[in-house]
Amino acid sequence: MNNKDYVPKNLFSIIKLLGNSLINLFFPPRIVVLGAAESGVGAAVLARKKGFDVFVSDTGKIKYEYKAVLRQHYIPFEEGCHTEKKILRAGIIVKSPGISDTASVILKAWAKKIPVISEIEFASQYTNAKMICITGSNGKTTTTMLIYHILKAAGYNVGLAGNVGKSLAMQVATENFDYYVVELSSFQLDGMICFRANIAVLLNITPDHLDRYDYKFENYANSKFRITQNQRKRDAFIFWNDDPVVCKLLKERRIRSTLYPFSVNKNADVKAFTENGNLVFKTPKIDFEMKTSELSLEGQHNLYNSMAAGLAAACVNVKEEVIRQSLSDFKGVEHRLEYVATVGGVRFINDSKATNVNSCWYALESMKTPVVLILGGTDKGNDYTEIEQLVKEKVRALVFLGTDNRKLHVFFDGKVGKIIDSGSMKDAVIESYKLAVSGDTVLLSPCCASFDLFKNYEDRGKQFKNTINDGITE
Ligand code: ADP
Repeated sequence: MNNKDYVPKNLFSIIKLLGNSLINLFFPPRIVVLGAAESGVGAAVLARKKGFDVFVSDTGKIKYEYKAVLRQHYIPFEEGCHTEKKILRAGIIVKSPGISDTASVILKAWAKKIPVISEIEFASQYTNAKMICITGSNGKTTTTMLIYHILKAAGYNVGLAGNVGKSLAMQVATENFDYYVVELSSFQLDGMICFRANIAVLLNITPDHLDRYDYKFENYANSKFRITQNQRKRDAFIFWNDDPVVCKLLKERRIRSTLYPFSVNKNADVKAFTENGNLVFKTPKIDFEMKTSELSLEGQHNLYNSMAAGLAAACVNVKEEVIRQSLSDFKGVEHRLEYVATVGGVRFINDSKATNVNSCWYALESMKTPVVLILGGTDKGNDYTEIEQLVKEKVRALVFLGTDNRKLHVFFDGKVGKIIDSGSMKDAVIESYKLAVSGDTVLLSPCCASFDLFKNYEDRGKQFKNTINDGITE
């Protein structure tokens, strides 16, 4: 059974009513938070502030700083296990997006009809701030940060939440923002029931995380579309009109909000497009154009991200001049096509955040020189066909960086002049440098998650940059 099938739409009205009743003083409803990292700890603190009986459980080790926060708020917790007796007494479970829907404790909760929701869903019930929400397979963080940058420049009282920055729940518990810019992954969207995005941005849908969706692309795509659920006519849905998957799914459902498609091609419906080297915005609120060369973020993919961000800002009444200026002076985000250094005529670019094949496609597409590409890591059901053509056209050599490179060899062997295996970032950088000639680019754009050799993609990107900046020596 799907979680949605039994969670009443008015779940939170009931809980809030309960929260206000006298009986609640003596028997507060129980919220169990599974996963005690950024989102879980935020949810627990908010739940405590709202008078719930809170219990936190994490099968892993809880970080010292998070334990300190829990203790400070007198929130009981356990680590290293899930005690089902305590968990399955919950009125509601708030689940960290990292925990799979097929985890045994979740299946048992569902069987007992305990609503399992995400931290964002929970937090959103306690704020009247306008929600500007961004999802997509790629470009979420960049676009989220860009929208936040524009709203800050416009002087708005705005918070940044979701996958970036502090959790929404912690901010709802401790701040008083009028707007939130929220980056949403499909896992977070899966736990959303009553949540309503005032402005929803859907950047693109390409295969990713299929291991969490029964290897069915349609399940993953449907999950992304949950960003539009509960939207009303006066809300906005901003989406990439050139994405065949988005367009197909859009036709199959009734979206109530006002549509703001963007595209590289001008047509009667699109609200942002390109024409003669200009980025054009045409909405009831903004009507202006600027040279694409004025945009601070380079590459085709960033053109889309800029369009989406400009439209989102327009929907909350940011003025044209501020949008134009902010799209030109945004500094970019670390680990996303980040220039590191030029050594002996070879440029090094850190795109460690490219954890799927599609983002690597855009990175390769934006390269103007021959490339030595470093890729590999934890495979998420990747199909490398998507980058095959670009690899053949632009890549001089491949350096595989993972504990198990067999799948990469099966696909790429014989298709590229030179292929080398490396077992560490230092090795990978040294080998890439040897393979490159002056004028080339060494690009770390791994198509894969990083967990086999690194703590996370940030660690992978930092090791890449440190190796280069410390001086490349054998
Ligand atoms: P996300 O948060 O969705 O993972 P990021 O903004 O962190 O996205 O970018 C991740 C990678 O995806 C970047 O390294 C970049 O190469 C690529 N990318 C960024 N924006 C887009 C886009 N609109 N379409 C495709 N790829 C993109």
